[in-house]
Amino acid sequence: MEVAPGIHSIPVDTLTFMGLYAPNVYLVLGKKAALIDSGYDYGEIVGKRLEYIEKVAPHKLEYILITHPHPDHIGGSRSIKKSTGAKIVLHSSGAARARNRYRVIPDILAKDGDILDIGGQTLEIIHTPGHSPASICVYVRESKVLFTGDHILGMGTPVVDAPEGDMTQYIDSLQKLLGYDIGLICPGHGPSIKEAERKIRELIAHRQEREIQVLRCLRQGRKNVARLVSEIYPELDYRLLELARRQVLAHLRKLVREKKVISARGEYALK
Ligand SMILES: [Zn+2]
Repeated sequence: MEVAPGIHSIPVDTLTFMGLYAPNVYLVLGKKAALIDSGYDYGEIVGKRLEYIEKVAPHKLEYILITHPHPDHIGGSRSIKKSTGAKIVLHSSGAARARNRYRVIPDILAKDGDILDIGGQTLEIIHTPGHSPASICVYVRESKVLFTGDHILGMGTPVVDAPEGDMTQYIDSLQKLLGYDIGLICPGHGPSIKEAERKIRELIAHRQEREIQVLRCLRQGRKNVARLVSEIYPELDYRLLELARRQVLAHLRKLVREKKVISARGEYALK
Protein backbone atom coordinates (compact mmCIF):
# COMPACT_ATOMS: atom_id res chain seq x y z
CA MET A 1 0.00 0.00 0.00
CA GLU A 2 1.40 3.41 -1.00
CA VAL A 3 1.02 5.92 1.87
CA ALA A 4 2.80 8.79 0.07
CA PRO A 5 4.51 9.07 -3.32
CA GLY A 6 7.18 6.37 -3.42
CA ILE A 7 6.51 5.26 0.14
CA HIS A 8 4.92 1.89 0.77
CA SER A 9 3.65 0.37 3.97
CA ILE A 10 4.31 -3.33 3.68
CA PRO A 11 1.32 -5.26 4.98
CA VAL A 12 2.11 -7.59 7.85
CA ASP A 13 0.41 -10.66 9.18
CA THR A 14 -1.07 -9.53 12.47
CA LEU A 15 -1.87 -13.06 13.66
CA THR A 16 1.55 -13.52 15.18
CA PHE A 17 1.55 -10.22 17.03
CA MET A 18 0.32 -10.17 20.60
CA GLY A 19 -0.85 -6.55 20.62
CA LEU A 20 -3.48 -4.67 18.71
CA TYR A 21 -1.04 -3.17 16.25
CA ALA A 22 1.68 -5.14 14.52
CA PRO A 23 4.97 -3.37 13.80
CA ASN A 24 4.93 -1.33 10.60
CA VAL A 25 7.55 -1.84 7.92
CA TYR A 26 7.92 0.79 5.21
CA LEU A 27 9.67 0.81 1.87
CA VAL A 28 10.96 4.09 0.40
CA LEU A 29 11.49 4.01 -3.34
CA GLY A 30 13.91 6.21 -5.24
CA LYS A 31 16.42 5.05 -7.85
CA LYS A 32 17.36 2.65 -5.08
CA ALA A 33 15.22 1.64 -2.13
CA ALA A 34 15.38 1.78 1.66
CA LEU A 35 13.46 -0.23 4.19
CA ILE A 36 12.39 1.43 7.42
CA ASP A 37 12.45 -1.24 10.14
CA SER A 38 12.25 -4.94 9.50
CA GLY A 39 9.59 -6.36 11.81
CA TYR A 40 9.91 -9.57 13.78
CA ASP A 41 12.16 -12.40 12.76
CA TYR A 42 9.53 -15.05 12.00
CA GLY A 43 10.53 -16.87 8.82
CA GLU A 44 7.12 -16.88 7.23
CA ILE A 45 6.48 -13.16 7.75
CA VAL A 46 9.96 -12.13 6.67
CA GLY A 47 9.43 -14.25 3.54
CA LYS A 48 6.26 -12.34 2.70
CA ARG A 49 8.09 -9.04 3.16
CA LEU A 50 10.86 -10.15 0.86
CA GLU A 51 8.32 -11.11 -1.78
CA TYR A 52 6.78 -7.65 -1.53
CA ILE A 53 10.18 -5.93 -1.76
CA GLU A 54 11.18 -8.04 -4.75
CA LYS A 55 7.92 -7.25 -6.50
CA VAL A 56 7.96 -3.48 -5.92
CA ALA A 57 11.70 -2.80 -5.92
CA PRO A 58 13.54 -5.68 -7.61
CA HIS A 59 17.29 -5.66 -6.81
CA LYS A 60 17.05 -2.11 -5.51
CA LEU A 61 17.16 -2.44 -1.75
CA GLU A 62 20.23 -0.54 -0.54
CA TYR A 63 19.55 0.15 3.14
CA ILE A 64 17.62 -1.32 6.06
CA LEU A 65 17.20 1.51 8.56
CA ILE A 66 16.41 0.40 12.09
CA THR A 67 14.55 2.99 14.18
CA HIS A 68 15.68 1.27 17.40
CA PRO A 69 17.02 -2.11 18.48
CA HIS A 70 13.86 -3.78 19.80
CA PRO A 71 12.79 -7.21 18.48
CA ASP A 72 9.73 -6.00 16.56
CA HIS A 73 11.85 -3.54 14.59
CA ILE A 74 15.29 -5.12 14.20
CA GLY A 75 14.26 -8.80 14.25
CA GLY A 76 13.87 -9.42 10.54
CA SER A 77 16.92 -7.40 9.45
CA ARG A 78 19.42 -10.28 9.33
CA SER A 79 17.26 -12.41 7.01
CA ILE A 80 16.43 -9.45 4.78
CA LYS A 81 20.09 -8.47 4.56
CA LYS A 82 21.04 -12.04 3.71
CA SER A 83 18.56 -12.17 0.83
CA THR A 84 19.09 -8.68 -0.57
CA GLY A 85 22.62 -7.63 0.39
CA ALA A 86 21.23 -4.36 1.79
CA LYS A 87 23.19 -2.53 4.49
CA ILE A 88 21.81 -2.34 8.01
CA VAL A 89 21.81 1.21 9.39
CA LEU A 90 21.48 1.81 13.12
CA HIS A 91 22.27 4.68 15.48
CA SER A 92 25.78 4.13 16.87
CA SER A 93 24.56 3.95 20.47
CA GLY A 94 22.53 0.83 19.66
CA ALA A 95 25.33 -1.24 18.13
CA ALA A 96 26.23 -3.24 21.24
CA ARG A 97 22.62 -4.07 22.04
CA ALA A 98 21.94 -5.13 18.44
CA ARG A 99 24.93 -7.45 18.47
CA ASN A 100 24.45 -8.93 21.93
CA ARG A 101 20.69 -9.40 21.94
CA TYR A 102 19.80 -9.96 18.31
CA ARG A 103 23.11 -10.98 16.67
CA VAL A 104 22.71 -8.13 14.22
CA ILE A 105 25.88 -6.36 13.11
CA PRO A 106 25.07 -2.97 11.62
CA ASP A 107 26.95 -2.00 8.45
CA ILE A 108 26.52 1.73 8.98
CA LEU A 109 26.56 3.42 12.38
CA ALA A 110 24.46 6.53 11.96
CA LYS A 111 24.55 9.76 13.90
CA ASP A 112 22.23 12.74 14.12
CA GLY A 113 22.07 14.70 10.88
CA ASP A 114 23.40 11.94 8.61
CA ILE A 115 21.92 11.87 5.12
CA LEU A 116 21.26 8.83 2.96
CA ASP A 117 20.50 9.61 -0.67
CA ILE A 118 18.74 6.84 -2.58
CA GLY A 119 18.18 8.90 -5.72
CA GLY A 120 15.17 11.18 -5.65
CA GLN A 121 14.56 10.53 -1.96
CA THR A 122 16.76 12.15 0.66
CA LEU A 123 16.61 10.50 4.07
CA GLU A 124 17.75 12.50 7.09
CA ILE A 125 18.55 10.68 10.32
CA ILE A 126 17.28 12.48 13.42
CA HIS A 127 18.50 11.09 16.74
CA THR A 128 15.48 11.04 19.07
CA PRO A 129 16.44 9.17 22.26
CA GLY A 130 13.78 8.61 24.92
CA HIS A 131 11.90 5.38 24.20
CA SER A 132 15.38 3.88 23.80
CA PRO A 133 18.84 5.52 23.72
CA ALA A 134 19.34 4.57 20.05
CA SER A 135 15.94 5.71 18.76
CA ILE A 136 16.03 7.58 15.49
CA CYS A 137 13.39 9.19 13.30
CA VAL A 138 13.91 9.31 9.55
CA TYR A 139 12.79 12.41 7.64
CA VAL A 140 12.22 12.30 3.90
CA ARG A 141 12.96 15.80 2.68
CA GLU A 142 11.09 15.58 -0.64
CA SER A 143 7.73 14.39 0.72
CA LYS A 144 8.07 15.69 4.31
CA VAL A 145 7.26 12.23 5.64
CA LEU A 146 8.65 11.38 9.08
CA PHE A 147 9.18 7.77 10.18
CA THR A 148 9.11 7.69 13.95
CA GLY A 149 9.50 4.08 15.10
CA ASP A 150 8.20 3.94 18.67
CA HIS A 151 8.99 7.58 19.44
CA ILE A 152 5.51 8.52 18.19
CA LEU A 153 2.81 5.88 17.68
CA GLY A 154 -0.35 5.87 15.59
CA MET A 155 -2.33 5.24 18.77
CA GLY A 156 -1.79 5.89 22.48
CA THR A 157 1.42 7.07 24.06
CA PRO A 158 4.79 5.36 23.61
CA VAL A 159 6.40 3.53 26.50
CA VAL A 160 9.19 5.48 28.20
CA ASP A 161 10.35 3.23 31.00
CA ALA A 162 13.49 3.42 33.12
CA PRO A 163 16.21 2.31 33.01
CA GLU A 164 16.26 2.06 29.20
CA GLY A 165 13.81 4.88 28.59
CA ASP A 166 14.67 8.45 29.55
CA MET A 167 11.87 10.98 30.08
CA THR A 168 14.10 14.07 29.82
CA GLN A 169 15.48 12.90 26.49
CA TYR A 170 12.06 11.80 25.26
CA ILE A 171 10.51 15.25 25.78
CA ASP A 172 13.60 16.98 24.36
CA SER A 173 13.37 14.74 21.29
CA LEU A 174 9.71 15.64 20.77
CA GLN A 175 10.60 19.34 21.04
CA LYS A 176 13.34 18.84 18.48
CA LEU A 177 10.83 17.43 15.96
CA LEU A 178 8.75 20.62 16.24
CA GLY A 179 11.53 22.24 14.22
CA TYR A 180 10.67 20.11 11.17
CA ASP A 181 7.99 20.72 8.56
CA ILE A 182 6.20 17.36 8.74
CA GLY A 183 3.41 16.45 6.33
CA LEU A 184 2.82 12.88 7.48
CA ILE A 185 4.02 10.76 10.38
CA CYS A 186 4.51 7.07 9.62
CA PRO A 187 4.81 5.44 13.06
CA GLY A 188 6.27 2.11 14.12
CA HIS A 189 2.81 0.84 15.10
CA GLY A 190 -0.69 1.95 14.18
CA PRO A 191 -2.06 4.21 11.45
CA SER A 192 -0.24 7.19 9.99
CA ILE A 193 -0.85 10.68 11.38
CA LYS A 194 -1.57 13.75 9.28
CA GLU A 195 -1.63 16.44 11.95
CA ALA A 196 1.94 16.04 13.07
CA GLU A 197 2.42 19.18 15.10
CA ARG A 198 -0.78 18.68 17.05
CA LYS A 199 0.19 15.08 17.82
CA ILE A 200 3.64 16.09 19.05
CA ARG A 201 2.24 18.84 21.26
CA GLU A 202 -0.33 16.40 22.66
CA LEU A 203 2.37 13.90 23.58
CA ILE A 204 4.41 16.58 25.36
CA ALA A 205 1.31 17.83 27.21
CA HIS A 206 0.42 14.28 28.28
CA ARG A 207 3.81 13.79 29.95
CA GLN A 208 3.64 17.20 31.58
CA GLU A 209 0.24 16.33 33.08
CA ARG A 210 1.61 13.02 34.37
CA GLU A 211 4.55 14.87 35.90
CA ILE A 212 2.22 17.29 37.67
CA GLN A 213 0.33 14.27 39.01
CA VAL A 214 3.55 12.76 40.39
CA LEU A 215 4.44 16.05 42.07
CA ARG A 216 0.94 16.34 43.53
CA CYS A 217 1.23 12.87 45.08
CA LEU A 218 4.63 13.74 46.55
CA ARG A 219 3.26 16.92 48.07
CA GLN A 220 1.44 14.70 50.58
CA GLY A 221 4.70 13.17 51.80
CA ARG A 222 7.50 10.82 50.81
CA LYS A 223 6.53 7.76 48.86
CA ASN A 224 8.04 4.80 47.09
CA VAL A 225 7.37 3.89 43.47
CA ALA A 226 4.76 1.19 44.25
CA ARG A 227 2.71 3.64 46.32
CA LEU A 228 2.90 6.31 43.61
CA VAL A 229 1.76 3.81 40.97
CA SER A 230 -1.25 2.76 43.05
CA GLU A 231 -2.24 6.40 43.46
CA ILE A 232 -1.67 7.43 39.85
CA TYR A 233 -3.18 4.29 38.28
CA PRO A 234 -5.73 3.16 40.88
CA GLU A 235 -7.39 0.49 38.73
CA LEU A 236 -4.49 -0.78 36.69
CA ASP A 237 -4.51 -4.34 35.36
CA TYR A 238 -1.87 -6.23 37.37
CA ARG A 239 -0.18 -7.30 34.11
CA LEU A 240 0.69 -3.67 33.45
CA LEU A 241 1.97 -2.92 36.95
CA GLU A 242 5.64 -3.52 36.24
CA LEU A 243 5.54 -1.31 33.17
CA ALA A 244 3.72 1.44 35.10
CA ARG A 245 6.43 1.27 37.79
CA ARG A 246 9.19 1.73 35.25
CA GLN A 247 7.34 4.65 33.62
CA VAL A 248 6.80 6.40 36.97
CA LEU A 249 10.47 5.79 37.69
CA ALA A 250 11.36 7.52 34.41
CA HIS A 251 9.36 10.56 35.56
CA LEU A 252 11.02 10.50 38.98
CA ARG A 253 14.50 10.32 37.50
CA LYS A 254 13.74 13.39 35.38
CA LEU A 255 12.47 15.27 38.46
CA VAL A 256 15.51 14.26 40.54
CA ARG A 257 17.80 15.43 37.74
CA GLU A 258 15.97 18.76 37.73
CA LYS A 259 16.38 18.95 41.52
CA LYS A 260 12.62 19.17 42.09
CA VAL A 261 12.56 15.82 43.90
CA ILE A 262 15.02 14.06 46.20
CA SER A 263 15.36 10.33 46.65
CA ALA A 264 16.65 8.35 49.61
CA ARG A 265 16.40 4.63 50.42
CA GLY A 266 13.92 3.93 47.64
CA GLU A 267 11.61 6.76 48.62
CA TYR A 268 10.95 10.05 46.90
CA ALA A 269 9.98 13.46 48.28
CA LEU A 270 9.64 17.03 47.09
CA LYS A 271 12.77 19.03 47.54
ZN1 LIG B 1 7.79 -1.45 18.61
